[in-house]
Amino acid sequence: MNDPIARRNFLKLGAAATASIAAAPSGLLAAEEATPRKFRFAHLTDIHLQPELDAERGFRQCIAHVNELRPRPDFVITGGDLLMDALEVDKARTLKLWKMYEECCRDFEMPVYNTIGNHDIVGWSSKALVTPDDMDYGKKLFAERAGRGKVYTSFDFQGWHFVLLDSIGQQPGKPDYMGLLDDEQIAWLQADVDQVAPTTPIVFVTHIPFYTAYITMAQGPNKLPGEKTMVANAHTLRKGLLKKNLRLVLQGHVHVRERIDYGRISYIQSGAVSGQWWKGPTIGEHPEGYGVIDVTGDEFEYGYEAYGWKAVKT
Ligand SMILES: [Zn+2]
Repeated sequence: MNDPIARRNFLKLGAAATASIAAAPSGLLAAEEATPRKFRFAHLTDIHLQPELDAERGFRQCIAHVNELRPRPDFVITGGDLLMDALEVDKARTLKLWKMYEECCRDFEMPVYNTIGNHDIVGWSSKALVTPDDMDYGKKLFAERAGRGKVYTSFDFQGWHFVLLDSIGQQPGKPDYMGLLDDEQIAWLQADVDQVAPTTPIVFVTHIPFYTAYITMAQGPNKLPGEKTMVANAHTLRKGLLKKNLRLVLQGHVHVRERIDYGRISYIQSGAVSGQWWKGPTIGEHPEGYGVIDVTGDEFEYGYEAYGWKAVKT
């Protein structure tokens, strides 16, 4: 799989080499400044791949749709819950799902960066079949099979900084997951964004939302999101991040299309590739699809692409 940064640098070097024949270096600089950076990427979340309900065909249909977009996305970010579930199944099933995921992802015609979701973690549930003494308990398989050895990371592309977070913590004294950025990751995140210039646009990708109005929307103002629905400590980052140019937080987990613009930061949930776990559009109103983000200079535009999946009848 091509590394987009390396590819871009190569293209840039190629363009510079060609241009330098025709133009003086000062002319080249002026031309670069006049052309704003432009790129596109896709955000595919909550894929929930499984052998049932024709989900593999559905995911491949979605990938083909991404490949056919024009302009074609420069890269894809997935938003977690890549697998139907690793929390409450045996290891053979989890390994089968990872193999299926890897095979499907070979269809992508651009690089893919994966974000971890709760369903990608082995055994973090009261109903788990895999116990903590198993060598593959927890996040290890995600790191190996989808995370290039990591569960959270960052990268730069065309002057934007992308941070893929691990928003999954464990409830105190229980095996079950909750929305949480652990202390070690927060220290890493602080150091990571410290290195980014104050003007550089930043994108966070988190599986569990930093913020969502879904629970209030569906159940009224007296019902608060539980520990599994929102990241418990995302608000502690707010003040520190105000000094940085965080523009976009891409979210998943709830399978709905939702956008909260607060100040200059947009918190956007990109529905779900699987809709309601391959049983149709989520609560009948959010079709199977994914987000497409077009960046021009320091600004972005967000769109949602439904890829036309029709859930199979059971
Ligand atoms: Zn989830």
